[in-house]
Amino acid sequence: MIKLNYKKCGVCNAHNAYFLFEEIIGEDESLTNILLCKNCSVLRNIQGSDDVQKGFFEIYFSTTDGDFEYLKKTIDELIIMIDYFYPKYSTLSTTVNNKTFLDVGCGQGLLSIAALKYGFDKVISVDINTETMKDVINILKANDYIESVNLSNLHIYDSMQSVTKKCDCVFMWHVLEHIENPLDFLLNYVIPILNKEAVLFIQIPLYRKKYVERVHHYFFNKPSVSFLMESCGLIIIDFIYDHTNEFLTIISKYE
Ligand SMILES: [Zn+2]
Repeated sequence: MIKLNYKKCGVCNAHNAYFLFEEIIGEDESLTNILLCKNCSVLRNIQGSDDVQKGFFEIYFSTTDGDFEYLKKTIDELIIMIDYFYPKYSTLSTTVNNKTFLDVGCGQGLLSIAALKYGFDKVISVDINTETMKDVINILKANDYIESVNLSNLHIYDSMQSVTKKCDCVFMWHVLEHIENPLDFLLNYVIPILNKEAVLFIQIPLYRKKYVERVHHYFFNKPSVSFLMESCGLIIIDFIYDHTNEFLTIISKYE
């Protein structure tokens, strides 16, 4: 088990800035302490660990042949989502045929497949477990869903350290809250591989009891996520609240 350091905030690096914000009692009467950083206002759930992330992955993302219709429907919806977000916020141009798409925390890889189908020249998919995505690709191949896609343009890695190609469009969809040290992660692994004018789309769950689980290390609000983005040299372009799901999407740009 990895010992977590609660003395230093993973978002603003402040020392000894956490104090107890709330005690959450679970249905099994377990107690979760939520800490508040008085420097950046991020909320920290101290129950997680990287071991838990891996276990969660296997339960959440395991895929079988019978899932094809669901996978296809989801990818079709994600293509519409990319088409909504990227042309609207990209200051480069709306053509994507010479652009690289980075899917950080790709999970089953459905967003990556959608980006390939959408026409991005290169798609890079990264997660701690890439077997699931490979299974998904095999299911899609078997059902002739990705015959029009050139899979040699897809690069799958199990670590951000392996990514060297510069990227133009980055999605971190429900990923930031799973990372123990978001500031170090962005500064060390994401910022160095951004092209000028790259656009980042980040979606996170808001702080709600239903989202307090062991794999969610952090809960952000506008001030804390702004602090994080700006500490990385990113300029925030927009915030979008999803009131139905209680998610927050942050769109930022690298200059
Ligand atoms: Zn902080």
